[in-house]
Amino acid sequence: MNSLFETVLYIPEGINFDCTGCGNCCFHWPVPATDKDVERINALVGDVDKPNFRKLPGSVDKMKAFTHSLEKRADGSCQYLDPDIRCRLHKNYGIESKPAMCQLFPYTFTLTPTGAYASLSFASTGVLLNSGAPLSTQKEFLQNQLALFMQLFPNEPDWGKIQLIDGIPLRWVEFLLIDKALLENIAPRNPKSLSRENLLAQSKMIVKKLPKPVDLDNAHLTKVRPILIDQILIKLLYELYFVDDPYREGAAEFDQKQFLDVLAGQPQSISLQFCAQKGAFEHVSFKSINDFRFNAQDYVEIDQLLTRMIYCRLFSKLYFGPGFGGLSLLSGFHHLVLLVALVRIHFKLATITGVESKDFNWQVEQIRMLERRLTVTSLSREAHAILEVLLQSPARIERILSLSA
Ligand code: SF4
Repeated sequence: MNSLFETVLYIPEGINFDCTGCGNCCFHWPVPATDKDVERINALVGDVDKPNFRKLPGSVDKMKAFTHSLEKRADGSCQYLDPDIRCRLHKNYGIESKPAMCQLFPYTFTLTPTGAYASLSFASTGVLLNSGAPLSTQKEFLQNQLALFMQLFPNEPDWGKIQLIDGIPLRWVEFLLIDKALLENIAPRNPKSLSRENLLAQSKMIVKKLPKPVDLDNAHLTKVRPILIDQILIKLLYELYFVDDPYREGAAEFDQKQFLDVLAGQPQSISLQFCAQKGAFEHVSFKSINDFRFNAQDYVEIDQLLTRMIYCRLFSKLYFGPGFGGLSLLSGFHHLVLLVALVRIHFKLATITGVESKDFNWQVEQIRMLERRLTVTSLSREAHAILEVLLQSPARIERILSLSA
């Protein structure tokens, strides 16, 4: 894909967006800025309202266009966020005066061999609430956003080395057939998208594409009981994605050393620790989690939100290959399914420990936290190797989905 004129733009269905003006995205996020942002804003505001830009220590890879960061106030808000929760740059000088990243947010694009796939960040309140007009009606605007995205992130991800499972290469045209089937079955219009039956059927559909049968469930790292491995995996991923401080900065990494240490210790029992408020943890056993059953009626709205989030990750291919940790398609899809299970387990933990988990606003904040954590998650080579093996097992995914029901 060489120029914008050759770029086909794909837009997800059933996804809406308009800014709710809540100001949330002007809190806590560091705002990366380009040299042009720095020059433009300095020239506009003069000495009176001087921006507090910090020079970044040599950005790499996909963030290389960003040379500075716009520093926050002590309360975590951007220095240009006014008390009426409006951006002062936008108010005084127009939308194009803001840092390019603020102009782009929450729109994202994934560049692929067949075109650019539009999506949205679920860290935005408007996105979480599906507010505003369908993206399908915003085509012209999205084309402009894509042009901005391509200026900021000119490097195309390398989709040339994707794999069906570890060691089995997948051509892009073969992937597109699987992609089509997944997006037909997991989409906002299907209320059963995230049902256990549907998720397992999609997993089976991917497995059927293997050129010859492979024993995916017995590629154990050790002779440890599979259920114990499930529990250690859930514990570490849960601690990675659901943290006591949702605004914690810095990369999130799967701790493969801790995984191997716990595995080697072969503990008799494992529990998850739920944090109702910062610094206060309660331990809940896997037996309690398993024994607790949801009333699905209480979670219909959040299930719709979660469906949109998973659909957007599928649509924008941000779950495997260069889209997420270099995982194979099957392990990447299973990781997405595991995220659904983790959200449900998180809600179970909250209910068991007495938190009002039926409150939609609370639920929405949990999804925002998950999105933030996914955005900063990186996998080391060793973590990737362990997750690739553990996540390729359909039996493991089935057991974890049962636990989360
Ligand atoms: S520059 Fe404006 S839009 Fe960007 S974070 Fe600050 S207040 Fe928000």
